[in-house]
Amino acid sequence: MIDLYSDTKTRPTPAMRKAMMDAEVGDEQMGEDPSVNALCARVAELLGKESAVFLPSGCMANELAIKVLCRPGDDVICERSSHIVHYEAGAPAALSGVTLMTIDGDRGRFSVGQASALIRKPGFASPGTRLICCEQTTNIGGGALWSLEDLRELTELAHAHAAYAHLDGARLMNAVVAQGISAAEFAYGFDSAWIDFSKGLGAPVGAVLAGSGEFIERAWFYKKQWGGAMRQAGILAAACSYALDNHVDRLADDHANARRLAEGLAELPGVLIDPSLVDTNLVFFELEDGDAQPFADALQAEGVRVSVVGRRRLRAVTHLDVSVDDIDAAVAAFEKVALAGD
Ligand SMILES: *Cc1c(COP(=O)(O)O)cnc(C)c1O
Repeated sequence: MIDLYSDTKTRPTPAMRKAMMDAEVGDEQMGEDPSVNALCARVAELLGKESAVFLPSGCMANELAIKVLCRPGDDVICERSSHIVHYEAGAPAALSGVTLMTIDGDRGRFSVGQASALIRKPGFASPGTRLICCEQTTNIGGGALWSLEDLRELTELAHAHAAYAHLDGARLMNAVVAQGISAAEFAYGFDSAWIDFSKGLGAPVGAVLAGSGEFIERAWFYKKQWGGAMRQAGILAAACSYALDNHVDRLADDHANARRLAEGLAELPGVLIDPSLVDTNLVFFELEDGDAQPFADALQAEGVRVSVVGRRRLRAVTHLDVSVDDIDAAVAAFEKVALAGD
């Protein structure tokens, strides 16, 4: 099976498992796990922040940031297709009681003008805008990249209105590799930022959220309250450190493979895709007619798994466990299915 369902499908490599076996561990929630502490210090520096905390998931990173930075009722500005809107089980409302003010953006991105139009000042009828959230890279937006300038302007807009800015960096390292800009540059001006290790970086579990010392102290309170404080978590942190050492530069291979896949798909009858819009490792495409689900089922029968994200829309994701030969085999399978439906 060539599994293009998601970059969360990566399995720890033998060398990563060895690093996990050899990890020094301690009681994480007592601050005594040397592997966790080393990872947090490293990611804080990577993101140019004072402090950082190790978490079981990226969802928890987003939700802790919203919880710490907002009060119930506050407005949070984000793009309509963002992960916090669609894939976090309603947590912004359930856990923090915030109002999501969504923007219909361009592939998951939005402009300063669009955000300014939604800013509300605190007053009799509104607690006002408290937070602006950006995803770098965008997920449902198709792995699109924000320019550094746009991110900077949005953080400045937030601060000019006594609000905060949060960077969902689930795939920030993909942006770093694709644009040759450091993670700290991207995270500059954001009050909170995080990276995920269980996506293209290939670790089994883990995300690290960074911010000011005070922010992280508050985040620790809710991490404990929500049951996310751990014990000998160094075994997981070791996998994340291994990923930073060994799996960052190779993200370029995933991007090249995604572009190769997109170019292959663009040749097929009934498949709509513009390969020039594939900036990183996420490949979204549409069917001219016919439903996505039977198409995905037929592909699976040919040994290729993709995800269905709309009635006619599908997503294929390249990652550590997908080689260039797999891409060529996948394109051949796609061709078979596309021609059968033609
Ligand atoms: C995957 C993802 C998350 C959540 O990360 P998990 O580690 O799966 O909880 C958040 N935001 C974006 C943009 C993502 O792609």
